[in-house]
Amino acid sequence: MANPLFDTLFGQHAGRQDPFLHLADGTLISYDAFLRRTAQFANLITGAGLAPGDRLAAQVAKSPDALAVYAACAQAGVVFLPLNTAYTPGEASYFVENSGARMFVCEPHKAGALTPIAHAAGAQLETLDTVGNGSLGESARHQPDSFATVDRAPSDLAAFLYTSGTTGRSKGAMLTQENLLSNAQTLADLWRFTGKDVLLHALPIFHTHGLFVATNIVALVGGAMLFVPKFDTDVMIELMPRATTMMGVPTFYTRLLDDTRFTGELTAHMRLFVSGSAPLLAETHERFEDRTGHRILERYGMTETNMNTSNPYDGDRRAGTVGFALPGVEVKVTNPDNGATLPQGEIGQIEVRGPNVFKGYWQMPEKTAAELREDGFFITGDLGQFDPDGYLQIVGRNKDLIISGGYNIYPKEIELLLDDQPGVLESAVVGVAHPDFGEGVVAVLVPEPGQTLDLEAIKAACGTELARYKQPKVFALRDDLPRNTMGKVQKNILREEHADAFA
Ligand code: ATP
Ligand code: MG
Repeated sequence: MANPLFDTLFGQHAGRQDPFLHLADGTLISYDAFLRRTAQFANLITGAGLAPGDRLAAQVAKSPDALAVYAACAQAGVVFLPLNTAYTPGEASYFVENSGARMFVCEPHKAGALTPIAHAAGAQLETLDTVGNGSLGESARHQPDSFATVDRAPSDLAAFLYTSGTTGRSKGAMLTQENLLSNAQTLADLWRFTGKDVLLHALPIFHTHGLFVATNIVALVGGAMLFVPKFDTDVMIELMPRATTMMGVPTFYTRLLDDTRFTGELTAHMRLFVSGSAPLLAETHERFEDRTGHRILERYGMTETNMNTSNPYDGDRRAGTVGFALPGVEVKVTNPDNGATLPQGEIGQIEVRGPNVFKGYWQMPEKTAAELREDGFFITGDLGQFDPDGYLQIVGRNKDLIISGGYNIYPKEIELLLDDQPGVLESAVVGVAHPDFGEGVVAVLVPEPGQTLDLEAIKAACGTELARYKQPKVFALRDDLPRNTMGKVQKNILREEHADAFA
């Protein structure tokens, strides 16, 4: 027996003195040191009574120890459940209770507020700060630094990852060892990661992007990460010369481009820039290439499936698309009414099947049954179409589809037009209740800094470019779009703001 996830990502590096994590302050953590710390945590959590299959919830700031707790769970067969650090105690309590976590690790300064919550949920509360202190960090130091890895099968659960909650309440996606490992292997291969790579890592590690895509790939190949707490333009620019690759959400790219120190020279040595978690504007893609000569590689995935599609490493990385299905993953675009595959070029719901697809939502059998077909295809909730060359384009989320007067309206089409108007930085189009049409179209525009928008000209452009039923009936201005921590536009907030637009 063995533990495929732990052995392949971490165990194989036991004793290696090569760097795994470089911290911004110059500290270097070797694979050997990381794995010894991991073993200490594994001893501690199993000593506290956590058995294989039990859940450990962690709401802690990004740090090497936070990552070691993830590795320790893998080594001990405990299901790791990372939580967004922005969640309030009230929000966190839902996840701790819902997941039935046996241990809840939080930051020391939150222990006061979270102790009653943990106890009410029957979880043991421990604390961990970013420099290895807190009850868990301190006790771990007294534990042996080796641990007999617990046997696991590929079908055993490795993590519960809660979705970002962009469209409603977060759902706990049950991910197996195979889900995580197969995806890391496929991506490392496709994106040509090797032990020589140094990934500039500024993503959070409570989300699939920073935790599984970034960390698992680097660990798999034995590379290193420049591991920084969060995105900070100064730090990114300072560390870029030491990196070979970077993964980011679209806002990383727009913020870097906003800084004149971010130049072709600074990035000349870089091998790869990857973007995902939210749509990358074609304009950002183009600006990035103009500035640096690099074409950002955009890929598409989600909590429930890890990654599904990617633009090619060699060949044309096409702006506004998320590329092709990953090897071993099937992607189809279907008619939402009957699930039939649609002809190329037609918009429908995106469905995926493969070793990456999760086992279902924790304690949500109806939702699981509604979204995970018996034949293994998962209905992603996203709408898309294939272009003539087979690249997948995401049109938006099913829930954001606007139906006005019986016609389907895809917000993306309108947003692309609005984004192209002079002075418009970005836009979001939503549908809200309309007494005659069911839903009416509202356009929210964000002007570029210091610009005053010519709304009449923008309306006129919509008038000539869009069929009448698609034309926004209300235009609203905003300084920025409401986004969650992964940079996703929260359209539900915009819908609430304009709920009475046609009342
Ligand atoms: P919830 O499911 O709770 O509403 P969420 O779907 O935002 O939240 P995640 O699993 O973090 O939670 O995000 C996955 C979603 O992010 C995808 O379904 C898709 O809508 C979007 N996404 C990811 N990558 C891309 C991309 N490259 N382009 C466009 N959208 C993307
Ligand atoms: Mg989702």
